[in-house]
Amino acid sequence: MATDRAECSRIAESVEALLPALERFNRFEAPDRSGSGRQMWSAALDQPLPQRGEGLDSVLSALEQTIIPNGLRSGAPGFSGWVTTAPTTAGVAAMLASSVAGAQRYWVQAFNALETLALQWLIELLDLGSGLQGLFLSGGSVANLIGLGAARQYAGERVGCDPSRDGLPPDRRWRVYASSEVHHCVFRAAGVLGIGRQNVERIDVDDELRVLPGALERALERDARAGVAPIAIVASAGTVNTGAVDPISDLARIAAERGIWLHVDGAYGLFGRLDPRIAHLFEGVERAQSIAVDPHKWLAAPPGCGAAFVRDRALLERAFTMEPADYAEGAMVTEVRSTFDSPGDASYHQLGVEMSARPRGVTVWAILKEIGAEGLRERIVRHNDFARHVAMRAGTDPRLEALHEPTLSICCFRYRPNGASEVQIDRLNADIAQRLREEGIVPSTTRVRGTFAIRPCFINPRTMRADVDGLVDRVCALGDALAPVTR
Ligand SMILES: *Cc1c(COP(=O)(O)O)cnc(C)c1O
Repeated sequence: MATDRAECSRIAESVEALLPALERFNRFEAPDRSGSGRQMWSAALDQPLPQRGEGLDSVLSALEQTIIPNGLRSGAPGFSGWVTTAPTTAGVAAMLASSVAGAQRYWVQAFNALETLALQWLIELLDLGSGLQGLFLSGGSVANLIGLGAARQYAGERVGCDPSRDGLPPDRRWRVYASSEVHHCVFRAAGVLGIGRQNVERIDVDDELRVLPGALERALERDARAGVAPIAIVASAGTVNTGAVDPISDLARIAAERGIWLHVDGAYGLFGRLDPRIAHLFEGVERAQSIAVDPHKWLAAPPGCGAAFVRDRALLERAFTMEPADYAEGAMVTEVRSTFDSPGDASYHQLGVEMSARPRGVTVWAILKEIGAEGLRERIVRHNDFARHVAMRAGTDPRLEALHEPTLSICCFRYRPNGASEVQIDRLNADIAQRLREEGIVPSTTRVRGTFAIRPCFINPRTMRADVDGLVDRVCALGDALAPVTR
């Protein structure tokens, strides 16, 4: 028996004990009191550090009674906030299996092999092109950091320096170019990489909120004359705000003409390529040097699962390799006879910023094995249809206004009473959104060209057409009730 009294052998019993509470949670029937009941559950949980352990049963009972019922309902049917949802069953099962039987992504073992296989499946599914090294990581923010870190290495090496070893040379200014709608994690990545947040230039967009290639070319020419060195052009393959897809093949051409790195942020939207109606928008991705995608978004993998792909593995390794360490050198073997004789299919710790990490590929493998490319395509087409349905309803109801044509599965819209000022309309829609959340209907909100909008983003596999209509109906009813002026 373990001397610290930690229980290692009651896994089946413990999981079984939690299952009824999890099933109850997943039916989403009881009213959600996580927000309004915060004082109650936080008082129950906010205990001092136990000096004497309370034992496993006490942990299970707190999980069952207090924590699970007050969890996050991002998977409830109709939930359409941000770009997030809860995992489906196959991903949950795979995650549980890996927690127990494959806690790390390394060494010669089945979970490690699935890491490689799932990356290959994603390349094929999304038609990313050949010669890519993939890497699972915690999400889109880190995937963008890795892509831009590789771009930084490339840009430095082109002028004869090694940014990974020496940092970026201070004798010139460096710049990243992206649309004004680019995800905010790109600015942070530039900060972390020493490029500087203010050296991410926001290029103007067209009426559909896609970057203007002409404006990009003008910025590049201006900078070339001024001696500012380019690090990367970032193409957004589905912006987080409205789902706009930049003209990727134009950006690929501009990047190739000038020898600049093209990075595609497809964290949310690249899965949209499966919808045959819009697949052509993604042409050019196969010419990008690096690509970010987020299986924990549209694929509904358990959160904590992003993927980065870089075409030049050796360069990626130069950018992110770790210093050699005696303890990590391995056993100098020529033939693998033990699981631990080799790091496995890829030395993932040399390719990113994490070392110990769970095997995320198993969840992606499980989901794709369960539903296949066809199943995912159906989901994506259905979700894109939902956004078009919202736009159609907003276009035919005089009280509503869609703020853009949907490209993917987002449709930003608002309730617009006659005779109210813009400030009043923004306020009204913010009030509507808060009432909706209170009722358990959760789109998120944003601003489109400065205008406050209700922003459903459909990636939740449980959402049905009736939920979509329910959202629009409630916006109308709440707008009618709360509008500041009579129509
Ligand atoms: C979600 C998202 C990110 C950030 O990804 P995380 O997984 O939340 O870190 C980056 N870019 C786009 C376009 C996104 O939708």
